[in-house]
Amino acid sequence: MTTNLVIMGPPGAGKGTHAKEIATHFHIPWISTGDIFRKHKAEKTELGKLIESYIDKGEFVPDSVTDRIVCERISQSDATAGFLLDGYPRSIPQAKVLKAVLAEANERVDAAIYLDVSAAEVKQRLLKRAEIEGRTDDTPEVIDHRLEVFFEATQPLLDFYEQEGVLRKVDGEGTIAEIAQRLLTVMEEIERN
Ligand code: AMP
Repeated sequence: MTTNLVIMGPPGAGKGTHAKEIATHFHIPWISTGDIFRKHKAEKTELGKLIESYIDKGEFVPDSVTDRIVCERISQSDATAGFLLDGYPRSIPQAKVLKAVLAEANERVDAAIYLDVSAAEVKQRLLKRAEIEGRTDDTPEVIDHRLEVFFEATQPLLDFYEQEGVLRKVDGEGTIAEIAQRLLTVMEEIERN
């Protein structure tokens, strides 16, 4: 039995906090493509040098690289019982690659969890965070743009996983404890399937 999960949510949705809980619950590794890429960049590996310019500009690393990294990572021994992917897939072509790779092993994405937080709410949270951290680059305009890009890119993925019958939307507004409780209910449903 494997548990292959994907977590999605807008910036400021609290994905990091909850991803950790989900991975712990299922005893699966939490795999963040952003973290993998940043680590390579910091360590100046061959891959790090290749992807540096994309990361710095906030552009997508080419699929040829990203797909390979994810395929390699999910075939490692700590992921034999499954995985929680964070930051991947980010597009329909990536979602199709993941589907095809898993199908070769008679597996699939068992659930795509979407932490549902409205644009207005995440904007408030991001503005507050910018204020606390004294960040001047997170202006309302920049935040609006980031959110616009996110929702535009994510909607097709939500449709894709809805059609696959595995989309699990979780209300991401409320206290951390409330959201954790909702996620627990969803995780128990996933376990029963
Ligand atoms: P994140 O921390 O998920 O926002 O990712 C940081 C950066 O890593 C992104 O801005 C991209 O440059 C790159 N990246 C992460 N995941 C992907 C992906 N699935 N496809 C392409 N690029 C990615």
